[in-house]
Amino acid sequence: IVQRDPPKIQRLEESVVNRIAAGEVIQRPVSAVKELVENSLDADSSSISVVVKDGGLKLIQVSDDGHGIRLEDLPILCERHTTSKLTKYEDLFSLSSMGFRGEALASMTYVAHVTVTTITKGQIHGYRVSYKDGVMEHEPKACAAVKGTQIMVENLFYNMIARRKTLQNSADDYGKIVDLLSRMAIHHNEVSFSCRKHGAVKADVHSVVSYSRLDSIRSIYGVSVAKNLMKVEVSSADSSGCTFDMEGFISSSNYVAKKTILVLFINDRLVECSALKRAIEIVYAATLPKASKPFVYMSISLPREHVDINIHPTKKEVSILNQEIMIEMIQSEVELKLRNANDTRTFQEQK
Ligand code: ADP
Ligand code: MG
Repeated sequence: IVQRDPPKIQRLEESVVNRIAAGEVIQRPVSAVKELVENSLDADSSSISVVVKDGGLKLIQVSDDGHGIRLEDLPILCERHTTSKLTKYEDLFSLSSMGFRGEALASMTYVAHVTVTTITKGQIHGYRVSYKDGVMEHEPKACAAVKGTQIMVENLFYNMIARRKTLQNSADDYGKIVDLLSRMAIHHNEVSFSCRKHGAVKADVHSVVSYSRLDSIRSIYGVSVAKNLMKVEVSSADSSGCTFDMEGFISSSNYVAKKTILVLFINDRLVECSALKRAIEIVYAATLPKASKPFVYMSISLPREHVDINIHPTKKEVSILNQEIMIEMIQSEVELKLRNANDTRTFQEQK
Protein backbone atom coordinates (compact mmCIF):
# COMPACT_ATOMS: atom_id res chain seq x y z
CA ILE A 1 0.00 0.00 0.00
CA VAL A 2 1.32 3.34 -1.04
CA GLN A 3 0.14 5.86 1.47
CA ARG A 4 -1.09 9.21 0.18
CA ASP A 5 -0.73 12.48 2.00
CA PRO A 6 -3.83 12.97 4.13
CA PRO A 7 -6.55 14.40 1.91
CA LYS A 8 -7.85 17.82 2.84
CA ILE A 9 -11.12 17.90 4.75
CA GLN A 10 -13.60 20.33 3.30
CA ARG A 11 -16.99 21.54 4.36
CA LEU A 12 -19.77 20.38 2.04
CA GLU A 13 -21.98 23.00 0.52
CA GLU A 14 -25.24 23.36 2.39
CA SER A 15 -27.31 22.42 -0.66
CA VAL A 16 -25.36 19.17 -0.98
CA VAL A 17 -25.82 18.40 2.72
CA ASN A 18 -29.53 19.03 2.43
CA ARG A 19 -29.98 16.87 -0.62
CA ILE A 20 -28.11 13.97 1.00
CA ALA A 21 -30.23 14.26 4.15
CA ALA A 22 -33.39 14.56 2.06
CA GLY A 23 -32.64 11.34 0.23
CA GLU A 24 -32.61 9.55 3.57
CA VAL A 25 -35.92 10.91 4.83
CA ILE A 26 -37.70 10.57 1.50
CA GLN A 27 -36.47 7.20 0.29
CA ARG A 28 -39.22 6.57 -2.24
CA PRO A 29 -42.58 7.98 -3.28
CA VAL A 30 -44.43 6.09 -0.55
CA SER A 31 -42.24 7.78 2.11
CA ALA A 32 -43.37 11.19 0.84
CA VAL A 33 -47.00 10.08 0.99
CA LYS A 34 -46.55 8.83 4.55
CA GLU A 35 -45.07 12.14 5.69
CA LEU A 36 -47.78 14.18 3.99
CA VAL A 37 -50.62 12.05 5.35
CA GLU A 38 -49.13 12.21 8.85
CA ASN A 39 -49.00 15.99 8.55
CA SER A 40 -52.69 15.96 7.57
CA LEU A 41 -53.49 13.80 10.61
CA ASP A 42 -51.49 16.15 12.83
CA ALA A 43 -53.59 19.03 11.42
CA ASP A 44 -56.81 17.43 12.83
CA SER A 45 -58.17 16.53 9.42
CA SER A 46 -61.27 14.40 9.09
CA SER A 47 -60.83 13.73 5.41
CA ILE A 48 -57.61 13.06 3.49
CA SER A 49 -57.36 12.32 -0.20
CA VAL A 50 -54.35 11.30 -2.20
CA VAL A 51 -53.81 11.47 -5.97
CA VAL A 52 -50.81 9.77 -7.56
CA LYS A 53 -49.40 9.93 -11.06
CA ASP A 54 -46.72 7.63 -12.42
CA GLY A 55 -46.21 5.79 -9.14
CA GLY A 56 -45.65 9.12 -7.41
CA LEU A 57 -42.66 10.16 -9.51
CA LYS A 58 -44.68 12.60 -11.60
CA LEU A 59 -47.15 13.75 -8.96
CA ILE A 60 -48.20 13.15 -5.37
CA GLN A 61 -51.04 15.33 -4.19
CA VAL A 62 -52.42 15.17 -0.67
CA SER A 63 -55.47 17.25 0.23
CA ASP A 64 -56.94 17.57 3.70
CA ASP A 65 -59.58 19.53 5.57
CA GLY A 66 -57.35 20.29 8.55
CA HIS A 67 -56.54 23.56 10.32
CA GLY A 68 -54.41 24.94 7.52
CA ILE A 69 -51.20 26.98 7.74
CA ARG A 70 -50.92 30.65 8.71
CA LEU A 71 -49.86 33.10 6.02
CA GLU A 72 -47.02 34.38 8.20
CA ASP A 73 -45.62 30.84 8.58
CA LEU A 74 -45.38 30.17 4.85
CA PRO A 75 -41.92 31.74 4.40
CA ILE A 76 -40.29 29.21 6.78
CA LEU A 77 -42.68 26.29 6.20
CA CYS A 78 -40.23 24.30 4.10
CA GLU A 79 -36.99 25.23 5.81
CA ARG A 80 -35.15 22.43 7.59
CA HIS A 81 -35.96 22.08 11.30
CA THR A 82 -39.03 24.31 11.30
CA THR A 83 -41.96 22.74 13.12
CA SER A 84 -45.04 23.65 15.11
CA LYS A 85 -44.87 20.41 17.06
CA LEU A 86 -41.71 20.40 19.16
CA THR A 87 -39.94 23.11 21.04
CA LYS A 88 -37.49 21.26 23.23
CA TYR A 89 -35.81 17.86 23.17
CA GLU A 90 -37.79 16.55 26.14
CA ASP A 91 -41.02 17.07 24.17
CA LEU A 92 -40.08 14.00 22.14
CA PHE A 93 -41.30 11.86 25.02
CA SER A 94 -44.64 13.54 25.57
CA LEU A 95 -45.53 14.11 21.96
CA SER A 96 -48.85 13.03 20.51
CA SER A 97 -48.15 14.26 16.97
CA MET A 98 -46.66 12.11 14.21
CA GLY A 99 -44.17 14.76 13.14
CA PHE A 100 -41.51 16.39 15.30
CA ARG A 101 -38.37 17.08 13.30
CA GLY A 102 -39.54 19.63 10.79
CA GLU A 103 -37.68 17.79 8.07
CA ALA A 104 -40.29 16.21 5.82
CA LEU A 105 -41.46 19.19 3.80
CA ALA A 106 -37.95 20.61 3.62
CA SER A 107 -36.63 17.29 2.35
CA MET A 108 -39.27 17.17 -0.36
CA THR A 109 -38.27 20.60 -1.65
CA TYR A 110 -34.67 19.40 -2.05
CA VAL A 111 -35.65 16.48 -4.25
CA ALA A 112 -38.88 17.68 -5.92
CA HIS A 113 -41.04 20.68 -6.73
CA VAL A 114 -43.47 21.41 -3.92
CA THR A 115 -46.57 23.60 -4.11
CA VAL A 116 -48.70 24.36 -1.07
CA THR A 117 -52.26 25.70 -1.13
CA THR A 118 -53.79 26.43 2.25
CA ILE A 119 -56.56 28.32 3.98
CA THR A 120 -57.14 28.89 7.69
CA LYS A 121 -60.42 29.27 9.54
CA GLY A 122 -62.35 32.48 8.93
CA GLN A 123 -60.41 33.48 5.82
CA ILE A 124 -62.25 34.20 2.58
CA HIS A 125 -59.43 33.07 0.34
CA GLY A 126 -56.39 30.88 0.64
CA TYR A 127 -52.76 31.17 -0.47
CA ARG A 128 -50.66 29.22 -2.86
CA VAL A 129 -46.87 29.15 -2.97
CA SER A 130 -44.18 26.95 -4.51
CA TYR A 131 -40.92 25.96 -2.89
CA LYS A 132 -37.52 24.87 -4.02
CA ASP A 133 -34.51 23.95 -1.88
CA GLY A 134 -36.25 25.01 1.29
CA VAL A 135 -37.32 28.48 0.24
CA MET A 136 -40.33 30.13 -1.38
CA GLU A 137 -39.97 30.68 -5.09
CA HIS A 138 -42.26 33.74 -4.95
CA GLU A 139 -44.56 35.58 -2.54
CA PRO A 140 -47.70 33.59 -1.61
CA LYS A 141 -50.50 34.30 -4.09
CA ALA A 142 -54.11 34.70 -2.99
CA CYS A 143 -56.29 31.99 -4.47
CA ALA A 144 -59.61 30.25 -4.05
CA ALA A 145 -59.38 27.38 -1.57
CA VAL A 146 -61.59 25.02 0.35
CA LYS A 147 -60.94 24.19 4.00
CA GLY A 148 -57.50 22.82 4.77
CA THR A 149 -54.27 22.24 2.92
CA GLN A 150 -53.27 20.70 -0.34
CA ILE A 151 -49.65 19.76 -1.00
CA MET A 152 -48.40 18.87 -4.44
CA VAL A 153 -45.07 17.14 -4.92
CA GLU A 154 -43.99 17.03 -8.57
CA ASN A 155 -41.12 15.33 -10.34
CA LEU A 156 -39.77 13.56 -7.28
CA PHE A 157 -36.01 12.85 -7.45
CA TYR A 158 -35.63 14.98 -10.59
CA ASN A 159 -32.15 15.81 -9.33
CA MET A 160 -31.20 12.31 -8.15
CA ILE A 161 -30.69 10.47 -11.40
CA ALA A 162 -29.68 7.12 -9.92
CA ARG A 163 -32.62 7.01 -7.51
CA ARG A 164 -35.08 7.90 -10.26
CA LYS A 165 -33.69 5.21 -12.52
CA THR A 166 -33.90 2.42 -9.95
CA LEU A 167 -37.44 3.46 -9.06
CA GLN A 168 -38.49 3.57 -12.68
CA ASN A 169 -37.13 0.10 -13.25
CA SER A 170 -38.85 -1.51 -10.28
CA ALA A 171 -42.59 -2.04 -9.99
CA ASP A 172 -43.93 1.39 -9.18
CA ASP A 173 -44.83 2.56 -5.73
CA TYR A 174 -48.56 2.85 -6.32
CA GLY A 175 -49.22 -0.54 -4.72
CA LYS A 176 -47.16 0.48 -1.69
CA ILE A 177 -49.10 3.74 -1.43
CA VAL A 178 -52.44 1.91 -1.57
CA ASP A 179 -51.16 -0.49 1.09
CA LEU A 180 -50.04 2.40 3.33
CA LEU A 181 -53.38 4.18 3.08
CA SER A 182 -55.29 0.95 3.71
CA ARG A 183 -53.34 0.47 6.92
CA MET A 184 -53.83 4.08 7.96
CA ALA A 185 -57.55 3.86 7.19
CA ILE A 186 -58.27 0.90 9.45
CA HIS A 187 -56.48 2.45 12.41
CA HIS A 188 -57.71 6.02 11.99
CA ASN A 189 -61.30 5.05 11.50
CA GLU A 190 -62.43 8.52 12.57
CA VAL A 191 -60.90 9.90 9.35
CA SER A 192 -61.99 9.17 5.80
CA PHE A 193 -59.23 8.34 3.35
CA SER A 194 -59.17 8.06 -0.39
CA CYS A 195 -56.45 7.24 -2.86
CA ARG A 196 -56.64 7.22 -6.63
CA LYS A 197 -54.46 7.36 -9.68
CA HIS A 198 -54.44 10.70 -11.45
CA GLY A 199 -57.29 10.79 -13.97
CA ALA A 200 -58.97 7.67 -12.58
CA VAL A 201 -62.64 7.88 -11.69
CA LYS A 202 -62.56 5.10 -9.15
CA ALA A 203 -60.59 5.32 -5.94
CA ASP A 204 -58.47 2.32 -4.96
CA VAL A 205 -58.82 3.11 -1.27
CA HIS A 206 -62.03 4.62 -0.10
CA SER A 207 -62.85 4.51 3.58
CA VAL A 208 -65.78 6.05 5.34
CA VAL A 209 -65.80 7.12 8.96
CA SER A 210 -66.81 4.18 11.09
CA TYR A 211 -67.07 3.47 14.79
CA SER A 212 -66.31 -0.19 14.46
CA ARG A 213 -62.78 -1.29 13.65
CA LEU A 214 -64.10 -4.51 12.20
CA ASP A 215 -66.32 -2.54 9.80
CA SER A 216 -63.29 -0.55 8.65
CA ILE A 217 -61.31 -3.73 8.11
CA ARG A 218 -64.23 -5.19 6.18
CA SER A 219 -64.57 -2.17 3.94
CA ILE A 220 -60.84 -1.99 3.19
CA TYR A 221 -59.64 -5.61 3.23
CA GLY A 222 -62.91 -7.28 2.31
CA VAL A 223 -65.42 -9.66 3.85
CA SER A 224 -63.21 -12.70 3.41
CA VAL A 225 -60.71 -11.18 5.85
CA ALA A 226 -63.17 -9.57 8.26
CA LYS A 227 -65.35 -12.65 8.76
CA ASN A 228 -62.37 -14.75 9.86
CA LEU A 229 -61.01 -12.45 12.56
CA MET A 230 -60.91 -12.86 16.32
CA LYS A 231 -60.42 -10.09 18.83
CA VAL A 232 -57.30 -10.16 20.99
CA GLU A 233 -56.44 -8.04 23.99
CA VAL A 234 -53.58 -7.87 26.47
CA SER A 235 -53.30 -5.48 29.33
CA SER A 236 -50.14 -5.45 31.37
CA ALA A 237 -49.18 -3.32 34.29
CA ASP A 238 -46.22 -5.44 35.19
CA SER A 239 -44.05 -4.70 38.20
CA SER A 240 -41.06 -5.46 35.97
CA GLY A 241 -41.87 -2.20 34.21
CA CYS A 242 -43.46 -3.76 31.14
CA THR A 243 -46.61 -1.70 30.95
CA PHE A 244 -48.74 -1.75 27.84
CA ASP A 245 -52.18 -2.30 26.36
CA MET A 246 -52.71 -4.17 23.15
CA GLU A 247 -55.90 -4.65 21.28
CA GLY A 248 -56.42 -6.01 17.85
CA PHE A 249 -57.68 -8.72 15.57
CA ILE A 250 -56.04 -11.92 14.41
CA SER A 251 -57.13 -14.30 11.68
CA SER A 252 -58.63 -17.68 12.58
CA SER A 253 -57.86 -21.04 11.03
CA ASN A 254 -60.44 -20.40 8.28
CA TYR A 255 -58.34 -17.64 6.81
CA VAL A 256 -55.91 -18.64 4.10
CA ALA A 257 -53.09 -16.49 2.73
CA LYS A 258 -49.55 -16.86 1.50
CA LYS A 259 -48.18 -13.70 3.07
CA THR A 260 -48.40 -12.34 6.57
CA ILE A 261 -50.11 -9.00 6.92
CA LEU A 262 -49.22 -7.33 10.20
CA VAL A 263 -50.77 -3.89 10.58
CA LEU A 264 -49.06 -2.52 13.66
CA PHE A 265 -49.60 0.78 15.41
CA ILE A 266 -47.62 1.75 18.47
CA ASN A 267 -49.00 4.82 20.20
CA ASP A 268 -50.97 5.52 17.01
CA ARG A 269 -47.84 5.44 14.91
CA LEU A 270 -47.70 3.00 11.99
CA VAL A 271 -44.48 1.05 12.51
CA GLU A 272 -42.78 -2.18 11.60
CA CYS A 273 -41.50 -4.72 14.10
CA SER A 274 -39.89 -7.78 12.58
CA ALA A 275 -39.43 -9.45 15.98
CA LEU A 276 -43.15 -9.30 16.71
CA LYS A 277 -43.99 -10.45 13.21
CA ARG A 278 -41.73 -13.46 13.56
CA ALA A 279 -43.13 -14.30 17.00
CA ILE A 280 -46.67 -14.33 15.62
CA GLU A 281 -45.74 -16.34 12.53
CA ILE A 282 -44.13 -18.98 14.74
CA VAL A 283 -47.34 -19.39 16.73
CA TYR A 284 -49.43 -19.75 13.57
CA ALA A 285 -47.08 -22.28 12.05
CA ALA A 286 -47.11 -24.34 15.24
CA THR A 287 -50.80 -24.10 16.03
CA LEU A 288 -52.67 -24.28 12.75
CA PRO A 289 -52.57 -27.38 10.60
CA LYS A 290 -53.01 -25.45 7.35
CA ALA A 291 -49.88 -23.54 6.46
CA SER A 292 -51.65 -20.22 6.31
CA LYS A 293 -49.96 -16.92 7.07
CA PRO A 294 -51.96 -14.67 9.38
CA PHE A 295 -53.68 -11.31 9.03
CA VAL A 296 -53.05 -9.31 12.17
CA TYR A 297 -54.04 -5.81 13.21
CA MET A 298 -52.61 -4.62 16.52
CA SER A 299 -52.71 -1.34 18.30
CA ILE A 300 -50.31 -1.09 21.22
CA SER A 301 -50.34 1.75 23.72
CA LEU A 302 -47.34 2.32 25.94
CA PRO A 303 -46.31 5.05 28.32
CA ARG A 304 -44.78 7.64 25.97
CA GLU A 305 -41.55 7.70 27.93
CA HIS A 306 -41.03 4.00 27.17
CA VAL A 307 -40.85 4.55 23.42
CA ASP A 308 -38.05 6.18 21.48
CA ILE A 309 -39.54 7.40 18.21
CA ASN A 310 -36.36 8.98 16.93
CA ILE A 311 -34.27 5.98 15.89
CA HIS A 312 -35.01 5.79 12.19
CA PRO A 313 -34.81 8.44 9.44
CA THR A 314 -38.25 7.50 8.12
CA LYS A 315 -39.56 6.72 11.64
CA LYS A 316 -40.64 3.29 10.48
CA GLU A 317 -39.21 1.63 13.55
CA VAL A 318 -39.32 2.63 17.18
CA SER A 319 -37.40 1.35 20.13
CA ILE A 320 -39.35 0.06 23.09
CA LEU A 321 -38.40 -0.54 26.67
CA ASN A 322 -38.80 -4.25 27.56
CA GLN A 323 -39.69 -5.16 24.01
CA GLU A 324 -38.88 -8.87 24.47
CA ILE A 325 -41.20 -9.26 27.45
CA MET A 326 -43.97 -7.45 25.60
CA ILE A 327 -43.60 -9.64 22.53
CA GLU A 328 -43.65 -12.80 24.65
CA MET A 329 -46.86 -11.73 26.37
CA ILE A 330 -48.52 -10.95 23.05
CA GLN A 331 -47.28 -14.21 21.59
CA SER A 332 -48.79 -16.31 24.39
CA GLU A 333 -52.11 -14.48 24.14
CA VAL A 334 -52.26 -15.16 20.40
CA GLU A 335 -51.40 -18.78 20.99
CA LEU A 336 -54.11 -19.14 23.64
CA LYS A 337 -56.71 -17.59 21.35
CA LEU A 338 -55.80 -19.86 18.48
CA ARG A 339 -55.77 -23.01 20.62
CA ASN A 340 -59.12 -22.17 22.21
CA ALA A 341 -60.67 -21.55 18.81
CA ASN A 342 -59.22 -24.82 17.53
CA ASP A 343 -60.47 -26.81 20.52
CA THR A 344 -63.97 -25.40 20.17
CA ARG A 345 -63.97 -26.35 16.51
CA THR A 346 -62.74 -29.89 17.10
CA PHE A 347 -65.32 -30.28 19.83
CA GLN A 348 -68.11 -29.09 17.51
CA GLU A 349 -66.95 -31.38 14.75
CA GLN A 350 -67.03 -34.36 17.11
CA LYS A 351 -70.63 -33.75 18.17
P1 ADP B 1 -43.06 18.19 11.25
O1 ADP B 1 -44.29 17.43 10.85
O2 ADP B 1 -42.01 17.30 11.81
O3 ADP B 1 -43.36 19.36 12.12
P2 ADP B 1 -42.92 18.89 8.45
O4 ADP B 1 -41.81 19.32 7.59
O5 ADP B 1 -43.62 17.63 8.07
O6 ADP B 1 -42.38 18.78 9.93
O7 ADP B 1 -43.99 20.06 8.52
C1 ADP B 1 -43.58 21.33 9.01
C2 ADP B 1 -44.76 22.10 9.60
O8 ADP B 1 -45.68 22.44 8.55
C3 ADP B 1 -45.59 21.31 10.58
O9 ADP B 1 -45.03 21.39 11.88
C4 ADP B 1 -46.96 21.97 10.47
O10 ADP B 1 -47.02 23.09 11.30
C5 ADP B 1 -46.99 22.46 9.04
N1 ADP B 1 -47.80 21.60 8.17
C6 ADP B 1 -47.32 20.65 7.30
N2 ADP B 1 -48.32 20.03 6.65
C7 ADP B 1 -49.47 20.56 7.11
C8 ADP B 1 -50.87 20.34 6.83
N3 ADP B 1 -51.27 19.42 5.93
N4 ADP B 1 -51.77 21.10 7.50
C9 ADP B 1 -51.36 22.03 8.40
N5 ADP B 1 -50.08 22.29 8.71
C10 ADP B 1 -49.13 21.57 8.08
MG1 MG C 1 -44.38 16.06 9.31
